[in-house]
Amino acid sequence: MPASPASLSLAFGLAFEDLYDPAGLARLDGEFVRALAGADAGLAARFAAARANPGALAYKDEADLLIAVAPHLDRFMAKLFGIEDEWQDLVEGHHRLAPLFRVKRKFVQRRAMLKIKADEAAGLDGPALEAQVAALLGGKFDELAFAERILAWVADEPAHAQELALAERFAAWAAHTPEGRWLHRDGVLFKPPQRVDPMHLVPVQTDASPGYSVHTLHHIRRRNGFALTDPGTNLAGALDEANYCIWCHEQAKDSCSKGLKEKPVVPADAPASLGRDPITFKKSPFGVPLAGCPLEERISEFHKLKSEGWAVGALAMIVIDNPIVCATGHRICNDCMKSCIYQRQDPVDIPQAETRTLKDILALPWGFEIYSLLTRWNPINLRSPLPRAPTGKRVLIVGTGPAGFTLAHFLLNDGHTVVGIDGLKIEPLDAAISGVQPDGKRVAFRAIHDIGELREPLEHRVMAGFEQAFKGRSLAGLPDELITAMARHDVGSSAFRLRQTKVIQVVVGKRIAWVEMQQQHFGCSDII
Ligand code: SF4
Repeated sequence: MPASPASLSLAFGLAFEDLYDPAGLARLDGEFVRALAGADAGLAARFAAARANPGALAYKDEADLLIAVAPHLDRFMAKLFGIEDEWQDLVEGHHRLAPLFRVKRKFVQRRAMLKIKADEAAGLDGPALEAQVAALLGGKFDELAFAERILAWVADEPAHAQELALAERFAAWAAHTPEGRWLHRDGVLFKPPQRVDPMHLVPVQTDASPGYSVHTLHHIRRRNGFALTDPGTNLAGALDEANYCIWCHEQAKDSCSKGLKEKPVVPADAPASLGRDPITFKKSPFGVPLAGCPLEERISEFHKLKSEGWAVGALAMIVIDNPIVCATGHRICNDCMKSCIYQRQDPVDIPQAETRTLKDILALPWGFEIYSLLTRWNPINLRSPLPRAPTGKRVLIVGTGPAGFTLAHFLLNDGHTVVGIDGLKIEPLDAAISGVQPDGKRVAFRAIHDIGELREPLEHRVMAGFEQAFKGRSLAGLPDELITAMARHDVGSSAFRLRQTKVIQVVVGKRIAWVEMQQQHFGCSDII
């Protein structure tokens, strides 16, 4: 592993070590509160009051407050890590794509597809229309260039009636017909939501001409060795989902987060003497309760922030309820999607948007450290912005899979000492970035500037204990940088490169590894 090429110089007089020290984090928090007050005194006062008594806020009011504070966190983090230029590029990258989503909704779906119905679109010569549109765009068709040109033409319709008529015919063909959608499958503009048939969730083409039915999939992804087959979506894909979302938290209808509830027989505003119905969730056509995200992640809120370009704020919003987001996203459960308000058409692909939100931050200089920091200090987590003082309580976690290491994370941040046990061999990682030697001795560790230094193609990695277990079992396909991300924030085993964890491995009987996790920086004592 090459040495990190840059050295981290934090703003506000803070040192890298402060980001792993309770007193340093408290100073950091104070700097943020001061910066917020300097930028918007009224907002800072509301924020302080909310932190002092978070229970006093209605859910919607809390969401509004967090969404108002999040952009300040974006700017603060950029300044803290000295990456204002790169952060600005990221924000502008979000804004640059905005015409795509405006034109998709207002021109493709609400104008072209309504004016030229599917039957008529099927009779159009799509490739010829595309060639004519491409000629107007300078010879090559490009979705963003098309969207920008549409906005310009619409701004002066009488002067561009001909061009708009051509664009309508082309857009109707591209979005209505299977051929058009297939040709433009790598983009976002011509992917209108499709009706969902729960009994035919896997689209197949059926050919009965041989006298028997042959079902064919047209989107097979062939596995080559152990390489990932799903790299996840790009920024445009994530923003497409965030813009498709209708931000239901504003109406307290964000069923992706809280579940699709049956209407209570006793209305919620009826006198208390009538009692209250227990919450029951609607069921999918397969009888599965639609209970939404098990973590009640603030999905609607993070989509809103992401769509506005607040990349750090969107991740901070996710991390409030899902600090181990590096292990979720499109790699794990999709209960949120199943409970999306869109039940008869494609749901919002929340897992893809979530994964991309994390990746966008990891790709920044010091992005790994930004994410790692948010798991220990998250100012928009009103109830727990900082790790709590040591409680002296000790907890044993049996099994350090996703549930185990997430539990470990919460317990450690709540001030408890945690011991994790896992049934699989655990390999020590590089002490230079974990801060822990295989014998448990603590050493200085360095910040990671470029997430690329952690990357290793999945198919090239040798068998290596617990990490390998992840690839081969419950989280097949987990990228290396995400495993390392988990490592840095107090979770699990030595494979997770814990900085606040003293790791002792004792192989017992059938290769049972014991891992002691000791919050050394927080003053807990050894427990084994
Ligand atoms: S993901 Fe679906 S349910 Fe959730 S806020 Fe968006 S549209 Fe509403």
